[in-house]
Amino acid sequence: MNSITRTTLVFLLMLVAGAILIFYRYDQLSEGHLELSTSSQRTAIDSTLNTYKLLSDTIFSEIINTDETLTLVNSIVESSGDQRNLQRGLLYRKLAPIYERLRPTNVRQLHFHCPNGNSMLRLHTPAHSGDPLFDIRSSVEIANTELREVHGYESGRVFHGFRHVYPLIFEGHHIGSVEVSTSFFHIQDQLKQLEKTNKTTLEFILYKPDFWNKLFAELQIFYSPSGLHTDYVSESADQISFQCRDRVEDLSLVSKIKEKLLQDPNVQHKMEQKQSCNCSLMYNYATYSVVFHSIKNIEGNHAAYIVAITPEPFLAEIRSNALQLFSIYIFLLSALYILRLRFVSLLTKQQQHAGFLQNISDNMGIGLYSTNKKGIITFANTAAIALLGYDKKDLIGQHAHNLFHIPLANNTDNCFCDQILSAGAKVHTDHVVFWSSNANAFPVEVVCTPLYDKKNIVGTATVFQDISKRLHQEQKLMDAQEKLRKIALQDGLTGIPNRRSFDQRSQKIWRSAMRRSQPLGLLMIDIDHFKLYNDHYGHQKGDDCLTRIAKLLEQACKRPDDFVARYGGEEFVVLLPNTNTQDCSQIGKRMLAMLAHLNIPHQASPTKPYVTVSIGCCSVVPNGTTSMADLIACADQCLYHAKNNGRNSVSAPDLTRNIKTDA
Ligand code: GH3
Ligand code: MG
Ligand code: MG
Repeated sequence: MNSITRTTLVFLLMLVAGAILIFYRYDQLSEGHLELSTSSQRTAIDSTLNTYKLLSDTIFSEIINTDETLTLVNSIVESSGDQRNLQRGLLYRKLAPIYERLRPTNVRQLHFHCPNGNSMLRLHTPAHSGDPLFDIRSSVEIANTELREVHGYESGRVFHGFRHVYPLIFEGHHIGSVEVSTSFFHIQDQLKQLEKTNKTTLEFILYKPDFWNKLFAELQIFYSPSGLHTDYVSESADQISFQCRDRVEDLSLVSKIKEKLLQDPNVQHKMEQKQSCNCSLMYNYATYSVVFHSIKNIEGNHAAYIVAITPEPFLAEIRSNALQLFSIYIFLLSALYILRLRFVSLLTKQQQHAGFLQNISDNMGIGLYSTNKKGIITFANTAAIALLGYDKKDLIGQHAHNLFHIPLANNTDNCFCDQILSAGAKVHTDHVVFWSSNANAFPVEVVCTPLYDKKNIVGTATVFQDISKRLHQEQKLMDAQEKLRKIALQDGLTGIPNRRSFDQRSQKIWRSAMRRSQPLGLLMIDIDHFKLYNDHYGHQKGDDCLTRIAKLLEQACKRPDDFVARYGGEEFVVLLPNTNTQDCSQIGKRMLAMLAHLNIPHQASPTKPYVTVSIGCCSVVPNGTTSMADLIACADQCLYHAKNNGRNSVSAPDLTRNIKTDA
C-alpha cells in the first residue's frame, strides 16, 4: 500500500469518525430535547387530568355528596315505577341547572348509577336509563361493589373519557354511585390553554381492542382509521361536534406526517408494544417532534394514545448546526488532506531524489563517506566500503582517522578532516594513504569538504579514489619519457652521448666552469684513415670499430665529471672539467697508448697497421669574452695540426711541438 492510499484511508476514517461523533452528539441533543418536551407534555397532561379530578371531587363533595342530593338518590333507589320516574325527575330538576353551569367547565357527563350497576340518571340524556353497566363499565362495578372511588380513562358504548366514579353512601347505606366525566377533547382544550407556543397539534387515537366490541354497532361509522396504525382509530369530527380543530393549521401536513410515521418501523414497533414513545422527523425542510403518550384504562391496560405533533425549530437549528459543523469539519479535513498529500508527494520526491543520489553514490566508483564534527563516520557508500574492505556496520560509528587514515593513529594530528573542521576550507590532496581492513596501504586522492547546517560546520564529506594504478601508470610514463630522453641524447651506434647531448652538456659544464673559474678542457678526436678502414673491412667492421673506440675513450676518462660524446661520423669529443691544456694533452696521449694497446688491425692505414686517432686538445678558463664555440674551434684547429703532423698524435695550442706516440 503506497503512502497516498494510506493517507486517503486515514482521512476517510477520520471523516467517518468525525461524522459519527458530530451526528451522535446531534442525536444526543435531539433526544434530550425530545425527552424534555415529552416529559413537559406528560406533566401538562397529568396536571390537566388532576385538575379535572379536583373539579370532579369538588362537584362530588359540594353538590352530590349532600344530604339533599343523597336523599333524592336514595328515594330513586327505594322507589319503583312511576314513583321512581318522579324521583328521577326531582333529581334532574335539582341538578340540571348546575349541570348546565358545569358544561362550560368541560364536565361532559354527570351520571348516577344504581347499586346494581344499572343507569339511574344521565344528566345529558335524562330520558335514557335502566341499562346495565357492570359488563362494560368496570369503574361502575368497582365503585358499587368495592365501594371505593375510581378515577381514570375508560371507554364506553358511546362515550369514552376520563371518568371519576364515587360510591354514594346515605345514612350508612350504599345507594349507588355517581360519575363525573370529561372527554379527551376537553382535556385537549385545557392542554392548549396551557401550551404557550400554541403550535402543538393534539390527537386522541383509540386502541380498538379496548373499546370496539363495547361500542354500539351503529356508532362504528363515526370512527375513522387513525392513519398511524391499523389498531387505532380516531373519532370523526362529525361525531365529536365539539372537537376542537382550530390548532390543526394544516390537515394535509398532519396527514403527510402520519404517512411518514406509518413508514417508521420504530414508531410502529412501539405502538404494537403499546408503549409511550417519541421521534423527530423532517417534512418540507421543517422539523417536527411527535410524542405518543400512552393512556391506560382504569384496569391499567393501554387504551389510547394522545399524539402531540409539534414544530421544532430548535431541533431544526441543532440539525443545521450539526450540518454546519460537519461542513466545517469536512472543509478543514479536506484542507488537511490536501496539505498532507502535498507533504507526502514532497516526501516521495525527496525519497526518490535521495534514492537517486544513493544510486549515484553507490555506483560512482569513487569512495564517499561523511563524518560528524568529531570525525565519526555517519555514512559510507558502496565504493568506500569496497575500497576500505570493511562491513558497513564496522565503518558507521567509527572514527575515520583512527580506523583507516593512518596506521597506529591514536592522535588526530595532521588529519585532513581536522583541517576542514578548524579552517572550514576544502582540502584536495593526493598525498594521503589509506589503510584497508587487511592492512594494505593504498595511495588515495581525497577531496574533503565541510558540511554545513546553516552557517555552522557539522561535519565533513570526503570523496576518495585509489590512485595506485594511476601512480603506476604515471611511473611507467615517466620511465618511457626518460628512455626517450636518453635515446634522444644517446648515439644509437656506440651507446655514448651524441652531438645533441654534447651541445646541452657542454653549455652547462661551461657555465659551471665559469662560476668556479676553473679550466675546461676539450679533446677533439678523429679516427685516422677511417675511409680506408671501411673500404678495406667493410662498413659493419667500421661500426664495430667505432663502438670499441667509444668504449676505450670512456675508459680513458677517469673522473666522474668527464664527458665523452660522438661528435659525428668518426669524430669524438671529450669534455674534461677542471683540466688544463697540459693535462688534456696527457689524457690524449693516454688514449693513443690505450688504442695502440687495443690494436685494432688496419692493414690499409699508411700510418700504422692498427687503428689510430688524431687528437686536438685545448683548455680555457671560461669568462665573459670566450665561448664554448671558441673552445671547439681551438680544439678543431689543434686536430687539424695533429692530422698534418702525421696523425696518431696529440696537438695542443700551448705546446711548441706535436707529441708523437712511440707505439
Ligand atoms: P683522415 O685520416 O684524414 O681523417 O682520413 P679519413 O679517411 O678518416 O677521413 P675522411 O673524412 O676522408 O673519411 C671519413 C670516413 O669515415 C668516411 C666515412 O665512410 C667514414 N665514416 C663516418 N661515419 C661512419 C660510420 O658511422 N660508420 C662507418 N663504418 N664509417 C663511417
Ligand atoms: Mg673526420
Ligand atoms: Mg678521419
